Amino acid sequence: MAFILALDQGTTSSRALVFDEAGRVRALAQREFTQHFPQPGWVEHDPEEIWQTQAQVAVEAVQKAGLTGVDIRAIGIANQRETTLVWDRATGRPIHRAIVWQDRRTADACDRLRARGVEGLIQRKTGLVVDPYFSGTKAAWLLDHVDGARERAERGELAFGTIDTWLAHRLTGGALHVTDASNASRTMLFDIHAGRWDDELCGGIGVPRAVLPEVRSSGEVLGEALAIPELEGVPIASLVGDQQAATFGQVCVEPGMAKNTYGTGCFLLMNTGDTARASQNRLLSTVAWRRDDATSYALEGAVFVGGAAVQWLRDGLGVIDQAPDIEALANEAPDSGGLYFVPALAGLGSPHWDPHAAGTIVGITRGTTRAHLARATLDAIAHQVADLVEAMSADAGAPLSELRVDGGAAANDLLMQTQADLLGVPVVRPETLETTALGAAYLAGLAVGYWGGVEQIAANWKADRRFEPRRSPDDVKCARERWRDAVARALGWGRGAVDAS
Ligand code: ADP
Repeated sequence: MAFILALDQGTTSSRALVFDEAGRVRALAQREFTQHFPQPGWVEHDPEEIWQTQAQVAVEAVQKAGLTGVDIRAIGIANQRETTLVWDRATGRPIHRAIVWQDRRTADACDRLRARGVEGLIQRKTGLVVDPYFSGTKAAWLLDHVDGARERAERGELAFGTIDTWLAHRLTGGALHVTDASNASRTMLFDIHAGRWDDELCGGIGVPRAVLPEVRSSGEVLGEALAIPELEGVPIASLVGDQQAATFGQVCVEPGMAKNTYGTGCFLLMNTGDTARASQNRLLSTVAWRRDDATSYALEGAVFVGGAAVQWLRDGLGVIDQAPDIEALANEAPDSGGLYFVPALAGLGSPHWDPHAAGTIVGITRGTTRAHLARATLDAIAHQVADLVEAMSADAGAPLSELRVDGGAAANDLLMQTQADLLGVPVVRPETLETTALGAAYLAGLAVGYWGGVEQIAANWKADRRFEPRRSPDDVKCARERWRDAVARALGWGRGAVDAS
């Protein structure tokens, strides 16, 4: 018997999972790594720590499954997207810590791009809105703020990469400088229609072509693992952004199928087939994956702070000890008691796109308790996703019939029930919530012939639980209106005081 090893390099932890042919998890290893917050709004990761933790868990997972490298047919890699680093081609050493997708330091650079009137051009070519979220302005920042970096980049001495690129580079002992189309589509430098880097975008944003990796398919043999002795010679057969991976792992392979992932952020993706559909409602159009030279596209809504709001209750406030504890605490109150929490802790993403929005709690009274706050936090996650679903339904011209869910926070039954209530459609949770790793495994396994075709993997998908909507439509309408009102109060707050005179 052979197996597939998936590396799931997430925002808060590096994970590795071994899958069998039925798509079942045979072993899992996970290690958290350090989050650096050097200034308000800045978030950094140490690329060496990312590589070390990822290499450690890869070995650990294979050992836990009672296997060795010869049992592994292929490695698939899913990664936190947009997180940006630059390294020295000669030494392989990063010139700076990686700038994480949540980082807002390039908000002003984005304001300047918008002032130059290039937003329409960027949106047409990349399917993205101008926002610090994406890699392009982060790469330009690194080149402008590390001594001599821009000159060295122009001379071809430096390499830019997202985390997929970095892991493929390290895993092959420096042989590869590649990315896949799904990750490239998150840079603001990639023309998603033509399927290539775009000179006009690179020039406008200030990223020299010389630093960019080669863009490959999301599922193809790219090279062999060399840097981890226990896995030497195993083919690396997929690179894919984590949200696109989860979409594939949920087998949303037909146009119109959609999934939402509840992790650090929340990400709703709907497959739109071989056309990149332009959003009329401030969503993104993005590459879902490229397989056998055919590109599939998706509409995407991205919420920056989903499960991370629960982490803030845990780490920032100390209201809970562990993330799952929020469910029992929230269940101590029948509702939020009128409390609304807009978790704009890293600005707001789709559909508001306001990097200056700030976290806001409204409706506090003498009766407000920790339980109300816990409840309002879960409500907020579900409201943000409802905002995405509304925008997507408007773009698609049809309501969703059901929502497939996954991610760490999808284990929370109260959150899933609240979600079904706010959407008015069933929420369906599959047996395996490890859809990100599974998607990377599927893409790699298909590329090496481990699975015969998409029909075979579709048969692996099984529902664990369906959450049916229970709340009255009037009640939901009222809650949605209050939520929108709360969001309006959070917008723009971070710009500073408004002159009231
Ligand atoms: P990522 O891949 O983005 O690191 P995961 O899918 O592992 O995220 O999910 C972890 C996130 O989900 C954390 O932000 C955590 O706070 C949240 N989370 C985990 N379990 C629960 C739970 N039972 N209820 C609510 N939130 C949870």
